[in-house]
Amino acid sequence: MKGRTLERIASVYDWLIVGAGFAGSVLAERIASQRDQSVLIIDRRPHIAGNAYDRHDDAGVLMHQYGPHIFHTNSDAIVDYLSQFTEWRKYEHRVLGRIDDKIVPIPINRTTINALYGLDLKSDEEAQTFLDSRAEPVEEIKTSEDVVVSKVGRELYEKFFKGYTTKQWGLDPSELDKSVTSRVPTRTNTDDRYFTDEHQVMPKHGYTRMFENILKHPNIKVMLNADYREVKDVIPHRRLIFTGPIDEFFDFRYGRLPYRSLRFEHVTHEQEQYQAVGTVNYPMTEAYTRISEYKHITGQKHHATTITYEYPSATGDPYYPIPRPENQTLYKRYQALANETENVHFVGRLATYRYYNMDQVVGQALAEFRRIQETVPLWTSPVNGKNHHADGELIMPDGARLLN
Ligand code: FAD
Ligand code: UDP
Repeated sequence: MKGRTLERIASVYDWLIVGAGFAGSVLAERIASQRDQSVLIIDRRPHIAGNAYDRHDDAGVLMHQYGPHIFHTNSDAIVDYLSQFTEWRKYEHRVLGRIDDKIVPIPINRTTINALYGLDLKSDEEAQTFLDSRAEPVEEIKTSEDVVVSKVGRELYEKFFKGYTTKQWGLDPSELDKSVTSRVPTRTNTDDRYFTDEHQVMPKHGYTRMFENILKHPNIKVMLNADYREVKDVIPHRRLIFTGPIDEFFDFRYGRLPYRSLRFEHVTHEQEQYQAVGTVNYPMTEAYTRISEYKHITGQKHHATTITYEYPSATGDPYYPIPRPENQTLYKRYQALANETENVHFVGRLATYRYYNMDQVVGQALAEFRRIQETVPLWTSPVNGKNHHADGELIMPDGARLLN
């Protein structure tokens, strides 16, 4: 392969980690700091932080390259872990939706119902009675259609969920697992927050800064613009952690696992504010699903503002596993292969084909680290009798760069 020798560094890495998102970076940090072993973490993108990557754009607005990322969790342990690497800013996300000719809160709450139907429901009980009168009984709740129709009835389902879901996934809600639309609750109170988790916070100086701190350890080297296929045979390593798409790792042996993609259109406006809240959804109209404005989310004060339109797409980078039974069956076949593959760990949203939020991926990575501690003995390097830091040469693919 084409390659160039850049600098003398560990000749045999204890661990090669593919993907510098939450899954890969958390494991790199744990292994480096708790096992004192050497880690080379690579990413084929030109940056760390995976899909949580944020940056200041040309206008100076802090924005999220891969769409709005709002941190929320009920886990104290996950917040405690990440708090080693960032301070936080409190932020509760709010979402409005354009429904017919009105702008109403999403998730559906009492305010939403009153606005859409010209009602004045005053209590949870009244709102519940209203919803019950519209809900359709569904014998067994299996799909993303069942779960909504059984709670709010067909009309609200069609206004809020059918169009959005069909755009977002390229599938009718009846073809998707119930877990997808179950992410969005229905409320009878007037709570208009998108999430109700105990912790709703944003990294004070952004995700990328937090990842820089996670990866700032002398046992960790970061290589960017480097695809696993280009480096796997030239960078000696003892164990591998893979956080990319699992079907790709196995050269699509059983065929492609479906992932849904998005095209992001980022637009900067020379005005302080573009919309009233962080995200406005367009369930009934438009080719995009939602528009998000970062300054609400980051708290940045700036004369300009940047927004992102999300256009769902069948092609492009894999962003979402698509939860439905046949895909889970195919994933299980890849998972069986993964279980038979020695010295390789599969972690993260793409490698375990799970529609996980950031906190869940952090939790999964921390759990995997505990398993590693229990099952993978510390080894002694035959190179120099130590665990790590052997001298040698690092061959890099053309275009790759070391971050540290
Ligand atoms: P990723 O962040 O995808 O990282 C995997 C990395 O591996 C990537 O950088 C990729 O380039 C690299 N890689 C893959 N294959 C290779 C290879 N062969 N060689 C080298 N590198 C490779 N979660 C929330 O909690 N809140 C939100 O508000 C939220 N909003 C989201 C909005 C959008 C539009 C999307 C798409 C996701 C959102 N998420 C949100 C989910 C969140 O992005 C994920 O949970 C999280 O980023 C997953 O981390 P990961 O490490 O598993 O994967
Ligand atoms: N959804 C919808 N209408 C909405 C918001 C969400 O139909 O106004 C459905 C849609 O299928 C979406 C899913 O609920 O993919 C989960 O929404 P969430 O906001 O959690 O999506 P994410 O932020 O992960 O893209």
